[in-house]
Amino acid sequence: MQKLTVIIPCYNEESSIPHFYKALCEVMSQLEFLIFEILFIDDGSQDYTLETIKSLQDINPYVHYISFSRNFGKESAIYAGLKYATGDLIVIMDADLQHPPQLLVQMYETLCHANCDSVAARRVTRIGEPPIRSFLARCFYAIMHKLCKIEIVDGACDFRLMTRQMVDALLELTEYNRFSKGLFSWVGFRTQWIEFENVKRIAGETHWSFWGLVRYSLEGLIAFSTVPLALASIMGLLFCAFSFIAIIFTIIRQLIWGASAYGWPSLVCIICFISGIQLFCIGILGQYLAKTYLETKHRPLFIVKENK
Ligand code: UDP
Ligand code: MG
Repeated sequence: MQKLTVIIPCYNEESSIPHFYKALCEVMSQLEFLIFEILFIDDGSQDYTLETIKSLQDINPYVHYISFSRNFGKESAIYAGLKYATGDLIVIMDADLQHPPQLLVQMYETLCHANCDSVAARRVTRIGEPPIRSFLARCFYAIMHKLCKIEIVDGACDFRLMTRQMVDALLELTEYNRFSKGLFSWVGFRTQWIEFENVKRIAGETHWSFWGLVRYSLEGLIAFSTVPLALASIMGLLFCAFSFIAIIFTIIRQLIWGASAYGWPSLVCIICFISGIQLFCIGILGQYLAKTYLETKHRPLFIVKENK
């Protein structure tokens, strides 16, 4: 019999977990020929998430948990889940039912019949999401598509069923700045996509602030593209060409019309503009340096306080 591990990262999800567990039980009854391992990752929750998980463990021996010593973020929770999973197949799911557990049946059937190593879900609508967030998300995917060699599908989420082989490949990537959407694509393997409509969170609140998302997007971009680093050289070249033309123009003007004092405001503007560009480019360098700095520390991605 095949074993399927369900990884559920949870951060302050005490109100969602009971709904989630109920929905998962229905799926388990449909996939009764599989042995389920339900692995909750308590990402340093401050509410009764851990107690809720423990109460589930009392009624179902297949429920397991890992509890972090503090909040390490969803990416670390996913990594911990993959590391501790013992199944032949592994699926990652959100606790708030935004990744409909019912879809797992279809995902499993696709994995069995479509000759692929992973089946991933993709949101085709963004109903219920603030329009500005949808717009910025679309822009982000468009930029990633242009700047990165790997493919990151618009609307792709972390809801994904994978084979053990693919998970082992993912575990070999131990980088500190993790961007799972990119890593799934980077390891390769054949992926089938299943589309679904966006659903609202069953309970609780999203943990993403606007700036949190901006930071996450930048992390993704920096982790998978070095094109921004080249930006400094390109702009430098353009400005060199521009100043060369300006110098020739000034010399010719000097020779024809003689000395002139006007033009200093425009000079100030140009100096400010170029300083701005320089600082911007140094900032990009700084971002890459900061990421490299964090990577060289080889800090663990998570610290387990307790698990069972
Ligand atoms: N999550 C987590 N650690 C965090 C933030 C979120 O484990 O620091 C979990 C959260 O409990 C949920 C999933 O990641 O199961 C998705 O989070 P959320 O619903 O807040 O994100 P959204 O669906 O709004 O993108
Ligand atoms: Mg959610």
